[in-house]
Amino acid sequence: MENRRTRRKKQVNSNVTFMLIGTGIIVFIAVAAVIFVMIAVVDTGAPVRADDSSVSIAGERETIADEADFETVQEEYEPNPHDSTTEQYNEPPEPASPFSVFSFYIPENAAIYESFQSENPHLDTEAIIWMVNSSLHLPFFEEITTVEGSNPLLINTYNRLPSGFSPIGLLPVNSNECDLRATMETVEAFRNLRQAARDAGFDLSVVSAYRSAARQRAIFERQGSVDGAVMRPYHSEHQTGRALDLWGPGSSGLLDHGGATPVGDWVAANVNAHGFILRYPYGTTHITGIIFEPWHITYVGMEISTYMYENGIETLEEFVGRNPGAGMDWVRR
Ligand SMILES: [Zn+2]
Repeated sequence: MENRRTRRKKQVNSNVTFMLIGTGIIVFIAVAAVIFVMIAVVDTGAPVRADDSSVSIAGERETIADEADFETVQEEYEPNPHDSTTEQYNEPPEPASPFSVFSFYIPENAAIYESFQSENPHLDTEAIIWMVNSSLHLPFFEEITTVEGSNPLLINTYNRLPSGFSPIGLLPVNSNECDLRATMETVEAFRNLRQAARDAGFDLSVVSAYRSAARQRAIFERQGSVDGAVMRPYHSEHQTGRALDLWGPGSSGLLDHGGATPVGDWVAANVNAHGFILRYPYGTTHITGIIFEPWHITYVGMEISTYMYENGIETLEEFVGRNPGAGMDWVRR
């Protein structure tokens, strides 16, 4: 009996052991399954990146869009702890005017730059600024400024000399021709230019220099009082005593160039090195208001003539537009 009872007890004990082991296995499997499911959920929640290289462009766009969405969500739910403080200091800056980055930008002209640009979308920003600074957004002779000073730099269709203006210290250009006169600096610079031309084998001479307002008026009226070929009185550089019309051998009266004569090409290439500029170059009539005049040179001094040559600035209008104030108070150098 004892043995049977003992055996039965042992059997009960082993049954309990089996049940415990079985329960343990079931719990283990259940826990393992839960962990597996969790890992699977996390994996599928991440953006799909596999096979990105093989997808079409549309697919790539879609992937990028998905990632962008993902980042947006991340940003929304994980705010930068500095956001609350940086937001007030990180306000978007005033949209900078495309004009204001240039040194010759004049704030008072801001509205004119914008309207002129909208009317002329083919012009670049720099051209818009210097043209407006030199009044080129206006038709010729529409708004005329009377320039003060004894030696104003820019005389053109917008700037005129005051009534009664007469340049100081005119000297004969050629020792034997007293009717041709120019300012002292102009005469001196021309003599150097003429010598350099001689050294290069060209003989330059002057056919027109200083003109009084009365003389300029007579020439203007003789041309039919039409703008384009001759300036109106008080608008002509010849009245400043710094403009010269040249004659060179091989040209028909007035000096010609543009491939027509070697002397014309020489003058065009060398005047800047002697303080002069070609005042009405080819293709600038819309700026100067005067036809191409390869014979007309103007003394502006070495500093300006060199600056213009080195920077490829063709007209005095552009120089003054890029150097506001230079036209009103010119210091001779
Ligand atoms: Zn001239």
